[in-house]
Amino acid sequence: MRESWHDFFAESPDVLKTERCRQTIVPVRDLVIGGDEFVTMAGPCSVETEAQLLATAHHVRRSGARILRGGAFKPRSSPYAFQGLGLEGLKLLAHARQQTGLAIVTEVMSEDDVPMVAEYADILQIGSRNMENFTLLEAAARSGRPILLKRGMVATIADFLRSAQCILANGNSNVILCERGIRTFETAMRNTFDVAAIALLKQISHLPVIADPSHAAGRRELVPALARVAVAAQADGLLVEVHPDPDRAWSDGDQTLDFPGFDAMMTSLEPYIALRATRLRGFEPARDELLEAVG
Ligand code: PEP
Ligand code: MN
Repeated sequence: MRESWHDFFAESPDVLKTERCRQTIVPVRDLVIGGDEFVTMAGPCSVETEAQLLATAHHVRRSGARILRGGAFKPRSSPYAFQGLGLEGLKLLAHARQQTGLAIVTEVMSEDDVPMVAEYADILQIGSRNMENFTLLEAAARSGRPILLKRGMVATIADFLRSAQCILANGNSNVILCERGIRTFETAMRNTFDVAAIALLKQISHLPVIADPSHAAGRRELVPALARVAVAAQADGLLVEVHPDPDRAWSDGDQTLDFPGFDAMMTSLEPYIALRATRLRGFEPARDELLEAVG
């Protein structure tokens, strides 16, 4: 007999769909993630200056983003690269929220910083490099803020779900899973976008799933195509890097869209988002079929 997903992911039972829990809806200020609305989170890789952040926030809001992203604490592969503005960056994010009404998602890298970041952020981002930092996951979970959990770059889906399970086990059910590309033998792109993971997670887990096409691609010209694929795979939202002048960005400029590029991507997504809404209403597998698949 075919192994059920419940058996395969036996170490993460609470993240799987059940009769009782088919979809987690994560409330964030005036919106929800995991509901009918497709939610775009956009903004710079790093918070750099007030002018950079405010210009980006106003622009992405006008173009349909609902959440502002921006790193104040940056996990960098090189110890000599820009490490983020820290508390000053958090204050700039809060200022941008107050100016635009956008909710804020930003990364927390250390359990010591959780209380400070939770004071300013609406969603705590756990970065790829920290997906299995269980003391951080525990502290972040206990802050009570929704958690955006990024898949580790060498994490299997089972590893990913175990980390989500750890957050749930620490009393926080507001978890958003984020596929951001994984390491494979392919080196032409920064990572390999695992769209199958999105489709699978949407079938088996009740947690919202979003895609980060920027870190997956590593090249801005690929970002819109990966975003469209994510919508087609039933993702609940996107996390995208946008900057007023990407070639001068202090981090991840190559994968960052400029304002016209972001607008073009948002326009190109419209028919896919409309189709997604129809699919959600009419073509989702019947409830019993789905529960049987979960096991
Ligand atoms: C980021 O979102 O800027 C980031 C550092 O992402 P990741 O943890 O996926 O590399
Ligand atoms: Mn980045």
